[in-house]
Amino acid sequence: MPTRYKRKVILQTLQKLNKLPLPYELRKPSRAEAEEAVRTLIRFIGDDPTREGLLSTPSRVLKAWEKDWGLGYDDTYRLTQTTSILGGQFADGRQTLSQLIAVQGIKYNSHCEHHMSPFHGTVDIGYIPRKGGRILGLSKLVRVVDMFSKRLQVQERLTDQVADFINVHCKPLGVGVLIRGYHTCMTTRGVKQHEVVAVTSALRGEMLTKPEVRAEFLQLVRKK
Ligand SMILES: [Zn+2]
Repeated sequence: MPTRYKRKVILQTLQKLNKLPLPYELRKPSRAEAEEAVRTLIRFIGDDPTREGLLSTPSRVLKAWEKDWGLGYDDTYRLTQTTSILGGQFADGRQTLSQLIAVQGIKYNSHCEHHMSPFHGTVDIGYIPRKGGRILGLSKLVRVVDMFSKRLQVQERLTDQVADFINVHCKPLGVGVLIRGYHTCMTTRGVKQHEVVAVTSALRGEMLTKPEVRAEFLQLVRKK
């Protein structure tokens, strides 16, 4: 049994510990704090968060990030998506091996992590299923893209994550992902380059090791 003095010290230490901020990723701010942050930003740019048109803006902004733009951070959403993607069919063995399956023009919307501004574009995916490996239909590929684009991103990482997800979970002989992106942080601010398209690609397996496979993929996804 600790003495009264010791108990006091322990209590004070605990209080001190509790006041210590948790690491950033562990301490989720409250709704009120997040809404206040939006009001602060509105005041910072010179507007009045108490005027009528802006009164509900903080809660709308939170909702948009929670339900859509930042949905990729939601564990339940990620679990549901992953289960749905991987619950799909397996190859039935009739597929010719080394047959490249390509899907072009999957649309995505994401937010650049440098400015939190939107960027959008298309994703082209090509993969060669392994015998007995998993085949992903269009709707599943869309889910993969959605899962990784609904968060703060850079286009290069988005490209890698889509390629790695397919590579790890479907174990194809090869996979290639090509993403085109229109970044509003480039088109509406700074250098204001309206027509610039950023193109990134990620190649895995035979897409890397076999030049003819890579050439076939790039030929299939070439912009018409
Ligand atoms: Zn940016």
